[in-house]
Amino acid sequence: MELNPERVLVITPHPDDAEVWAGGVIAKWVRAGAQIHGVLCTDGSKGAPDPEIHPAELAEIRAREQLAAAQVLGIKNIVMLGRPDGELEDTSDFRRDLVRQIRLIKPEVVLTSEPYRRNMQWHRDHRITGQVALDAVFPYARDHLHFGDLFADEGIEPHKTAMILFWGSENPNAFVDIADDFDTKMQAVMAHRTQTGQRTEDQMRAFIHARARDAAEAGNASTDDDVTGLKLAEAFRRVTFRT
Ligand SMILES: [Zn+2]
Repeated sequence: MELNPERVLVITPHPDDAEVWAGGVIAKWVRAGAQIHGVLCTDGSKGAPDPEIHPAELAEIRAREQLAAAQVLGIKNIVMLGRPDGELEDTSDFRRDLVRQIRLIKPEVVLTSEPYRRNMQWHRDHRITGQVALDAVFPYARDHLHFGDLFADEGIEPHKTAMILFWGSENPNAFVDIADDFDTKMQAVMAHRTQTGQRTEDQMRAFIHARARDAAEAGNASTDDDVTGLKLAEAFRRVTFRT
């Protein structure tokens, strides 16, 4: 897929999800001049194997890691919703938070987590983030009368997003060449030190590299996308909307 959006919103459940799944395309679009904004839904406060660490302490460390990773990728700004890790729910309140950000940032493309993975394990927060982001894009951010007070009280205009790219899909139909951005992606992934565990940088690189090769192979074989000759890629399920 060849795409050069000017404005992109990344809606990520936990610190590190966006870097692992979409760090390459984010870096690529920033290089091409895109403005990329992030919304981090949870505080990541449960994501550690160490039973001694306090959730509040972990949340603080992970917020710093997220900012460092965003700087590596060139993400312009990250709004941290600070919802407790593992406790996302498909609520009107959460949807409203996402609608507000979509309307403020006015992205052409939203990058987020696949809600409908069926045969592979997937974190509950990943499912719920994807579902709420999808609903927030269409129809809630689009129509004046949904969350009408955002418009009536704060003057925040509705917005039509043209495309969502879901990462982590079992059925990707859009593939992006990230060969030139792989090193930047790796640097961003490695900024999340609490998440790399006992693995060395070389081991992490091998793991992420193998995934990027698999995505490239899937892309080269795909009949949904006309890409060829990919070596390292990221794979998404693309959903488009009339604007
Ligand atoms: Zn996650």
